[in-house]
Amino acid sequence: MHKFLISVSAAVIIILGFIAILFFIKPDYNKLNFVQRFVARQVSQKFDDLLNKMPKDRRTIVDFDTLMNSLNFYEKDFAQRIFEIDPKQLGFKGPFYSIDKPKDLIEVPSVKVGYRETGIQFCPEHSYKDYLKMMNQMQKDIGKRLYIDSGYRSPGRQAYLFFHYLTSSAKYSLMENAKWIAMPGYSQHGSPINNAIDFCNEDGINGFSDGQKQSDFENLPENKWMLQNASKFNFYLSYPKDNQWGVAYEPWHWHWEIKSQQ
Ligand SMILES: [Zn+2]
Repeated sequence: MHKFLISVSAAVIIILGFIAILFFIKPDYNKLNFVQRFVARQVSQKFDDLLNKMPKDRRTIVDFDTLMNSLNFYEKDFAQRIFEIDPKQLGFKGPFYSIDKPKDLIEVPSVKVGYRETGIQFCPEHSYKDYLKMMNQMQKDIGKRLYIDSGYRSPGRQAYLFFHYLTSSAKYSLMENAKWIAMPGYSQHGSPINNAIDFCNEDGINGFSDGQKQSDFENLPENKWMLQNASKFNFYLSYPKDNQWGVAYEPWHWHWEIKSQQ
């Protein structure tokens, strides 16, 4: 009986400790503590499970609420508190774009690039039309094209990516993660008007996947053409080197924008 009481009290203390650490200790933005890391992994796993049940081509437009509703109460509370952090506190200086879904999303078929597929992507109609015009010109000029590696992403997709990278390459540092992955609503990929596209070339070179370096994309003739001509088609490089937004250099990431004539 005595032993039983001891183990019950030990269990109660552990559970209370878990709750106290999770609910009352504010996350350290540079490193989550062990309880927060544990819950972050659970959140990421639940998001993964939900996405794996969805048809592949719908995963980039997964609904934010559907994703959050796959969590239990303490996972959801934790994830919500993470998404309520002002990204400025994590070093991200970009604006809030939108969490509204564009009304005119075009489904872009998957393309084989090198040994992989881009997967079905989505783009608002206005930027897709300009993308096609731009590629026709590039084809005429240098006989090459770029492909849409990642187009429109819903705030839900952004939430999934945030936890995926937080628990993997960012090693549980919210600060580090924010350099690479925008919070839901803060990604240009989710902007209905000024939406961003990540490009890759016909060999699948995009400058970031499979251990590639930024310079792998930067040095492509396709990219050099973009730097000279993309603005004629309303596409602009969003995150040049040492940009003012606190985002890593992303030569592959271009957004659509109508700039007023100077
Ligand atoms: Zn991007």
